[in-house]
Amino acid sequence: LLQLFRPLDMLGFVYRTVRQGLIDMAEMFRLIDTAAEVKDTPGAPALVVRRPTVVFDKVRFGYETDREILHGLSFEVPAGNHVAIVGPSGAGKSTIGRLLFRFYDPWQGRILIDGQDIAEVTQSSLREKIGIVPQDSVLFNDTIGYNIAYGRDRANRDKVIEAARAAAILPFIERLPDGFDTEVGERGLKLSGGEKQRIAIARTLVKDPPVLLLDEATSALDSRTEQAILATLRRVSENRTTLAIAHRLSTIADADRILVLEQGRLAEAGTHGQLLQKRGLYAEMWARQQAESEG
Ligand code: ATP
Repeated sequence: LLQLFRPLDMLGFVYRTVRQGLIDMAEMFRLIDTAAEVKDTPGAPALVVRRPTVVFDKVRFGYETDREILHGLSFEVPAGNHVAIVGPSGAGKSTIGRLLFRFYDPWQGRILIDGQDIAEVTQSSLREKIGIVPQDSVLFNDTIGYNIAYGRDRANRDKVIEAARAAAILPFIERLPDGFDTEVGERGLKLSGGEKQRIAIARTLVKDPPVLLLDEATSALDSRTEQAILATLRRVSENRTTLAIAHRLSTIADADRILVLEQGRLAEAGTHGQLLQKRGLYAEMWARQQAESEG
């Protein structure tokens, strides 16, 4: 009987997570692997966020027992600050995002939001408080309105319109013959990368989370669209604690603080200007990317 129950239980977990506003399909498949690992402790309280600080406190973690990826990582994001995480490929940047969303639990150390250990609160309350704008936004085969509101049964049309306006996608939607009732996805209207990204931003705005996790948010776009989306994201992340995982340094040069990760350790931290002065790993990455974009 247990064997029958486990897959069913996981299916329910995945379904609930999707309903709660998870939008990255790749992550969803990863969830199927990890659903059994991460569980609410019985009687766990809900996360209550008044000042959305995010703290990683000596976090050690690996996906496989014999391979540690984060080696006692500590950093703090003050409430309302915009912190970017950069570093070479495989350094562990996306892993930080996955741990914050609690796809996995750390081996050691703690992750705190507003002073509460995220392992000790309900996962639903945690995920309620974190908005994700992922690299590739997946839309459901449904209407634009549903795609913006989804996960929020009670999101009313006014809220959806307001979110679409803030994500700068409202004029586009209003020009469509069926407006918010336009079907998108495989059988419906095909949207560009930038349009999909704006729908994802609007969806996050309906959710109105105090903490934002931007994962490579602009990687699939041409540079004009990228600049426009960045400007939108900047507005959206005002007054929210934002953790941005970035490849291209040009997109995060104005962050309050930049964390440079190297092989699961914090190599450097500071503002763009401070890090350039250090002439270390960041300055080297910056010089390389400048040369590439000029080339
Ligand atoms: P990139 O910039 O290339 O996206 P990253 O800094 O985001 O890299 P992570 O995705 O956090 O790096 O991965 C860190 C390390 O963890 C890598 O060596 C990767 O191979 C490993 N890793 C990531 N996901 C898994 C997984 N699901 N199972 C096992 N190992 C994984």
